[in-house]
Amino acid sequence: MIYLKTEDEIELLRQANLLVSATLAEIAKVIRPGVTTNQLDTLAETFIRDHGAEPIFKGFPNPYGSDFPASICASVNEVVVHGIPNDVPLKEGDIVSVDCGAKLNGFCGDSCYTFAVGEISEEAKRLLSVTKDALYKAIAVANAGGRLGDIGHAVQSHCEAQGYGVVREFVGHGIGHEMHEDPQVPNYGKEGSGVQLKNGMCIAIEPMITQGSRELRMLPDRWGVVTRDRKLAAHFEHTIAIHNGKADILSSFDTIEEIERQRH
Ligand code: MG
Ligand code: MG
Repeated sequence: MIYLKTEDEIELLRQANLLVSATLAEIAKVIRPGVTTNQLDTLAETFIRDHGAEPIFKGFPNPYGSDFPASICASVNEVVVHGIPNDVPLKEGDIVSVDCGAKLNGFCGDSCYTFAVGEISEEAKRLLSVTKDALYKAIAVANAGGRLGDIGHAVQSHCEAQGYGVVREFVGHGIGHEMHEDPQVPNYGKEGSGVQLKNGMCIAIEPMITQGSRELRMLPDRWGVVTRDRKLAAHFEHTIAIHNGKADILSSFDTIEEIERQRH
């Protein structure tokens, strides 16, 4: 069942999402060659708890294996989603999708940003830029009276036109008291199809896009998912509310992007 949020609940969701955005901005400040994803995880968990919130990924159950052990997913290069942080130092030219979730005052924040580590290839830059553009194209059609299929179609048509793969096995989702609520929000679909979008709907939109084939394989840890052809993947995610007829973006990349501009 889709649970429509009140104005007050949307504001609480905004606070949780801005905390996640601030956490990702802390990561943006320190991410560079030599840093490990375990270091990024410790930083994220400390920052979330210092702000009176709980990391929601930590202990997340897995029907196929052990609970998720960390506060962020850190998915490097060919890892699409759910990478478990580790002690391998990041290298110049890597890309790393950092997905983060936190619960603050009973409401969940969920956002993901794919970071460049040092200088990355032109091909990697293009993948990041197309995936981020796809997210904003999807947000632009997430209006009251529209349909869920409009969102999926916006992502799919933009990315497939660039020759990229659109992951089908993992999707966006409703969000509120729980990180994953109805409805599912696929990154593919037909315009004008699916559930009607209404004021008060709060959803996470999260294109997961591959440089080559969209075929996936699960890693032996039963969490990480990689591209079968080992080409790169990117993942950007915002949580939005449909609010006064339009998408109100509750998370924010502004600080991350300011840090990236200063670095270049
Ligand atoms: Mg996420
Ligand atoms: Mg999500």
